[in-house]
Amino acid sequence: MKDTVLYFVIPCYNEEAVLPETAKRLYSKCERLIRAGKISPLSRILFVNDGSTDATWAIIQKLHEYKPLFAGLSLSRNRGHQNALLAGLLYAREYCDVSISMDADMQDDVEAVDEMIAKYEGGCEIVYGVRGNRDSDKWFKRFTARRFYKLMHRLGVEMVNDSADFRLMSRKALLALSEFREVNLFLRGIVPMIGLKSDTVTYTRGERLAGESKYPFKKMVEFSIEGITSLSIQPIRLITNLGITIFLVSIAFLIWSIVAKALGMTVQGWSSLMVSVWAIGGLILLSIGVIGEYIGKIYLEAKARPRFIIERILNDGPKKEEEPMTVQELLDEIRQEMPDVTLN
Ligand code: UDP
Ligand code: MG
Repeated sequence: MKDTVLYFVIPCYNEEAVLPETAKRLYSKCERLIRAGKISPLSRILFVNDGSTDATWAIIQKLHEYKPLFAGLSLSRNRGHQNALLAGLLYAREYCDVSISMDADMQDDVEAVDEMIAKYEGGCEIVYGVRGNRDSDKWFKRFTARRFYKLMHRLGVEMVNDSADFRLMSRKALLALSEFREVNLFLRGIVPMIGLKSDTVTYTRGERLAGESKYPFKKMVEFSIEGITSLSIQPIRLITNLGITIFLVSIAFLIWSIVAKALGMTVQGWSSLMVSVWAIGGLILLSIGVIGEYIGKIYLEAKARPRFIIERILNDGPKKEEEPMTVQELLDEIRQEMPDVTLN
């Protein structure tokens, strides 16, 4: 639709190596979409600079000077991928009809965007980009990712398998997202909670254009723990169940030791004693750790610190006017949808 304002939201952390090429590809995509009458010329490619220490922001500034189609936000410091993305989406919410989030390294396929927009035009509010295969990943990442999605499902977290943060969200979906105020952010688990009509588009994930992955192994592990603990309380329940089981086992031990005493087989059992002391000690420490993890989360949520601070904005696109509906318009709408209802 000609007047659909589309905002691409691209978080960037030290991406000077890929940014010029990414900008070129997105620009040509946008131009084609505008020319085909699919999106409005007021659409933007919004780069969110996540506190980069290289020339990323300078490149974004240059791009904005060159064409107003490029817009930029700069966060006051590095806040991590999820927060940078959220900053971009929440900013775009006031300007766009529909947003598409993508990584800066062009691992997400720009060509899948057409299909996403088609689904949006067909009435979808959220369209998830789903990876057709994981051939571009090393076997280790493939293996751990598969286990992770399985585990999340088992923990009762609703997630679209193999979907990362390549996603179309309508303005309505963005407004709904802004109602989720959690500080511990795992977007791909939160977005499905919004509901609304959604669909998926399958694409092939390519290699990073250039530069290094900003998700080394340690960060990936932290990210998955964040995902689990911010969305599921099953681990705490698991501990409770474990406690009950161990209690039952200890009763069995008690009976056994009374029987052993009665039969006169006492001093033995040093090794089983040692084993149980260590095993239970380990379990207790682990359990305290898991509970501590949740208390830490509660602590952070309770403080409700801002999730990001926007330092600078480069965008001359107009804000969407929030048109308040008059009572008459509201009544007309209801009458149209439900003609048999009588209204005064
Ligand atoms: N990113 C970010 N802040 C960070 C780390 C990463 O904004 O602290 C961005 C990064 O610039 C990229 C996206 O998040 O656009 C995904 O990062 P990357 O491609 O390095 O992750 P991978 O694809 O290797 O999982
Ligand atoms: Mg990447």
